[in-house]
Amino acid sequence: MARIVMKFGGTSVADCERIERAADKVAAEVARGNEVAVVVSAMSGVTNKLVNYCSEISPLYDAREYDTVVSSGEQVTAGLMAIALQKRGVSARSWLGWQVPIVTSNVHGKARIEEINTEEMEKRFAEQEVAVLAGFQGISERSRIATLGRGGSDTTAVALAAALNAERCDIYTDVNGVYTTDPRIEKGARKIDRISYEEMLELASLGTKVLQVRSVEMAYKRDVPIQVLSSFEDKIGSDLPGTLVTREEDIMEQHIVNGIAFAKDEAKVTLFNVPDVPGVAAKVFGPLADSSVNVDMIVQNVSEDGQVTDMTFTVPEGELQKAIDILAGQEDLKDVKIRTDKEVVKVSVVGIGMRSHAGVAQTMFSALAEKGVSIHVISTSEIKISVLIAKDYLELAVRALHEAYGLDQS
Ligand code: ADP
Ligand code: ASP
Ligand code: MG
Repeated sequence: MARIVMKFGGTSVADCERIERAADKVAAEVARGNEVAVVVSAMSGVTNKLVNYCSEISPLYDAREYDTVVSSGEQVTAGLMAIALQKRGVSARSWLGWQVPIVTSNVHGKARIEEINTEEMEKRFAEQEVAVLAGFQGISERSRIATLGRGGSDTTAVALAAALNAERCDIYTDVNGVYTTDPRIEKGARKIDRISYEEMLELASLGTKVLQVRSVEMAYKRDVPIQVLSSFEDKIGSDLPGTLVTREEDIMEQHIVNGIAFAKDEAKVTLFNVPDVPGVAAKVFGPLADSSVNVDMIVQNVSEDGQVTDMTFTVPEGELQKAIDILAGQEDLKDVKIRTDKEVVKVSVVGIGMRSHAGVAQTMFSALAEKGVSIHVISTSEIKISVLIAKDYLELAVRALHEAYGLDQS
């Protein structure tokens, strides 16, 4: 007997028929004698609709009320999943975040899970009852409903698996695993059988939406193996050829580059006429950090005359206006000219093999140059290289890199 957490994403619970198919899978795991906790997302499209309702009434909505609204989608699917399981003769009940409770920080809209109390769930496991948990939500330290950020049901699932000491966390979705790049962009993308937590974490934080970043962070920290599996096939669990996200030591075959990620929601800010004096970078980035604007790639040019210089950096598109307002309000930067560009995308190549192989960056730059794609900004870390390019070249660049690193299926 094993204890497992099964998570079903939006497309996997998109309507009653799909909820019933998902319930069949849960019932099959129970029939194998396993203890099962299920985590569900809202039906696909529902969360977007709820988010839009909030901004329709007020673009400056109260984040606590936003959470009350957007968390409701998961309540519906949790109840329906419990009903579908009961119909199959499986004892089940739904749990909302506050009923467990899943205690979170007070940062509404992107709260962090602080604690999960599984005492009551444990008792019910002993009575062979399946727990069906509404994903994406918890209760804040101030007793308000809080949500975990978009895609947060993945994190609910991994956190629950960690809290329950589950053997593994199975993430059922609309693809049959993690691919070398988004299969919607590159038809030749190849499914990866095993990927390390570290690489998956980089891919997720660089824009690969198949798993929420925090879910991978949590799995890495708590050593929870994740399987990404298709919900559209009849088989279940390890019988499916999905992707296992696991420790680096458990992976036999290592490629130098394992995946290509991209993030479309980036914006570039260039500051001209910046005084070239010690401490100016702190004057630019200090106020941005104080206001929680997430600055990512940064380049500062060398000034020719030692007087003024240019500086370029990226911020999430949604934080661009805030960044401009903050910089425009700084007395020390009053002569600085600001230019912005939203038509950019960040493309990254990720692989643990980069630690020990030279020439990975060169392959990237040559492949892009051959296609005439110019690079605006570059940033690197131990296991990734990112470039900022014009949005129009996204697909061309991803395909060129996919081929250059030999990631194609053939
Ligand atoms: P769910 O609703 O089940 O949480 P998501 O939409 O969050 O599903 O994640 C699955 C989607 O992630 C896929 O449909 C796929 O288009 C996208 N995706 C992006 N990059 C990748 C990748 N490298 N491998 C697999 N899927 C990817
Ligand atoms: N329903 C939420 C969203 O769409 C959470 C999730 O699906 O993981 O972001
Ligand atoms: Mg998701």
